Amino acid sequence: MIDKISSFSNTIVIGGGPAGLMAAEHLASQGFSVEVFDAKPAVLRKFLVAGKGGLNLSRDEDFEIFLSRYGNRAKELGPFLRAFGPTELRTWMQNLGFETFVGSSGKIFPNAMQSVSLRRTWIQRLEQQGIRFHLNQRWLGWDQENNLVFQSKFDNVIARSDAVILALGGASWPTTGSDGTWVAILQQQGIDISPLKPANCGFDVNWSDYFRDRFQGTPLKSVVIHFQPTTGEPVQRLGEFLITHYGVEGSLIYAFSAAIRDEILKNGQAIIHLDLAPDWSIEQLATRLSRPRGSRSMSSHIEKSVGIHGVKANLLWEYLPRAVFNDPKHLAAAIKSLAVPLVAPRPIEEVISTAGGVRFEDLDDHLMLKKLPGVFCAGEMLDWEAPTGGYLLTACFSTGLAAAVGVVDWLQQKNS
Ligand SMILES: Cc1cc2nc3c(=O)[nH]c(=O)nc-3n(C[C@H](O)[C@H](O)[C@H](O)COP(=O)(O)OP(=O)(O)OC[C@H]3O[C@@H](n4cnc5c(N)ncnc54)[C@H](O)[C@@H]3O)c2cc1C
Repeated sequence: MIDKISSFSNTIVIGGGPAGLMAAEHLASQGFSVEVFDAKPAVLRKFLVAGKGGLNLSRDEDFEIFLSRYGNRAKELGPFLRAFGPTELRTWMQNLGFETFVGSSGKIFPNAMQSVSLRRTWIQRLEQQGIRFHLNQRWLGWDQENNLVFQSKFDNVIARSDAVILALGGASWPTTGSDGTWVAILQQQGIDISPLKPANCGFDVNWSDYFRDRFQGTPLKSVVIHFQPTTGEPVQRLGEFLITHYGVEGSLIYAFSAAIRDEILKNGQAIIHLDLAPDWSIEQLATRLSRPRGSRSMSSHIEKSVGIHGVKANLLWEYLPRAVFNDPKHLAAAIKSLAVPLVAPRPIEEVISTAGGVRFEDLDDHLMLKKLPGVFCAGEMLDWEAPTGGYLLTACFSTGLAAAVGVVDWLQQKNS
């Protein structure tokens, strides 16, 4: 194995996701030489995966509401998102040659919905700016002379720079390159990392074999989830989610996934309550269900009187004792608030994003690690989380830019 100094440049970006490439672009635009290293044979792999689901880039909504989606990290992310948020991202896309549009509930997408051509165009522009890409180079950490060490197929490569930006992503979908191995590297440097946890994830439910076999893959539409964590405010929302072979997933579940995950970590399970008939009151349901059933089966009676059938009706059979079905008031109450225990979040590898990461307390206002001057961090590897719906990518682009602005300031101060 040969170790060699392969490169010396002003700046190195490790990780070619949206955060890293946004950082690289800004550094190049400011006249710095930039080299991008990535462990995989191609950059922007998770971006492409996100594109398959529609590439929801950002969200068009009141900025304070937008910011509130970042929960207890809204304060730290606020300055970066104010400098580069949904509006600036749309302008940036336009400059790249891609118009965007605002879809349902304010979601922002590229017009063409073509993440492949967007990716190709962006990489071409970066190459035209003089940015050099080093692919199949896995970052291993630093050597004793403080050089960056990369493992390539045949040898270890050593590189040096005046400043480095780490944009290594979370730990979901490791085939795209973001596998969280950077955690151990930074821990060795004395950086305390908030443990990586699944975010925007599905959850396991102990379905009966009958229910699982019959209803996996079935959407549950027009349902309200109520969730009351042991500590914290109750939350509720109308939407839809999917029954899967393991449990539940989908946008309505993702909306609550942080609170549900934390509840399971604390108490071993989280109980959500489903309102299966949001347009009905308990009284209306009870009155209708009290009508004579005649010779109809109970399932047929419920369907004829209150329109509940299919997956919704079978959820009732899944969870309610038989006696409840003969008590209209009790049954009406259960339709409005059916308790469903969720027992585990899905494994981190298969979820959409990752919570945890480099703590903001360990970073200065420009995302530089206080313990490692000259080393900046950006993107999903930082300790924040947000729901799906464009919030993830916006914060990745935004913190990528912020880290690059930080590098420029830091190098200018150092050299003045
Ligand atoms: C199925 C799916 C759908 C999604 N849909 C959306 C969506 O519609 N809207 C939205 O906002 N977000 C979406 N996301 C989330 C979004 O894609 C990510 O939050 C975003 O890509 C993170 O960007 P990043 O630059 O921080 O990291 P990443 O995009 O994960 O890039 C990190 C890079 O670092 C490299 N790397 C990691 N470790 C090393 C190492 N040791 N050495 C060298 N290189 C390394 C990786 O190879 C990778 O290229 C989706 C995610 C998934 C999985």
